[in-house]
Amino acid sequence: MTRSAIANDRIVPIGVYPTPVERIEKLGLWVKRDDLTNPDYGGNKVRKLERLLFEARRRGKRRIVTVGAAGSHHVLATALFGARAGFEVDAVLTPQRSTPHVTENLRADLGLGARLATARTYPGAALGMLARSGRDAYLVPVGGSNGVGALGYVDAAFELADQIEAGELPEPDAVVVTVGSGGTAAGLAAGFALAGIRATVVGVLVSAPAFLVAFWTRRLARHVFRQRARGAGALVRADPSSRLELTARYLGAGYGEPTDAGRHAMSVAADVGLSLDLTYTAKCFAAALDCVHSARFSNVLYWHTLSSAPLAPLLEKAPVDVPPKLAKLLR
Ligand SMILES: *Cc1c(COP(=O)(O)O)cnc(C)c1O
Repeated sequence: MTRSAIANDRIVPIGVYPTPVERIEKLGLWVKRDDLTNPDYGGNKVRKLERLLFEARRRGKRRIVTVGAAGSHHVLATALFGARAGFEVDAVLTPQRSTPHVTENLRADLGLGARLATARTYPGAALGMLARSGRDAYLVPVGGSNGVGALGYVDAAFELADQIEAGELPEPDAVVVTVGSGGTAAGLAAGFALAGIRATVVGVLVSAPAFLVAFWTRRLARHVFRQRARGAGALVRADPSSRLELTARYLGAGYGEPTDAGRHAMSVAADVGLSLDLTYTAKCFAAALDCVHSARFSNVLYWHTLSSAPLAPLLEKAPVDVPPKLAKLLR
């Protein structure tokens, strides 16, 4: 199956594809530059939102209701691209460790016109979403990781297959990617199975509880695989979750809690011009470096998921301070 075999008319186009693949000779690995999915705000939420916003529109909805930690990349991307696609955006936010990055993202959410509500716990956030739901609302789960959003990463797997076929890079035997809510890793594992890429997806867990995140990610991989295999009329019996290797070794004390290995990986990456964050990509990059040094893999690709677009333009209409109601979420 090639990329042309998959219908791509079921998206609201946001991204610029294919994103480049680059060799970092000094570290002996390849990088898939999904930081460049969009010039205004890139990263991995773009491919998911293309699918999610299309689905919301198809169902005739006017409002997106979503959820995330305060300063969430997913909420920010939804605020930006949801508004551009003509939706109102409501988000319920949960507590998060305070950093300058988190504060800026919160201000950007407000500047982009998102309506923000708060909840102290995850069950509270679920109730908050329900309270904001209604016939005009399309509900998007944390990270945009449901069976619709993850399809964006099935497409991404086919995009990589095309780049391999065109000789831009050799076929990797390990693709290392961050797992927050799991949609990215699940979509890639399913897509690789469909596109005939033999790589192991090394999913690096950065959120907890690890068993639940792992369970959900595997389930989502099987779900989108079946959905896509059926859509393509293919009789495929492979289990995509068998090529998904999930590790909690780099998680440390939990979501948003930095680790020493992450800090080290961040400085190694900075040396070669790659900008990482401590919550997601630094932990993943630490794992990617370990994969390079492991005898198991000879060809490692690190899938970069963090936007590298400057945030300043998104802060133009933002309030200077975070309002007290939202500041209470920052610890
Ligand atoms: C959201 C996010 C992830 C996690 O992706 P999931 O699909 O939720 O697992 C990884 N990296 C960055 C930078 C993110 O913002």
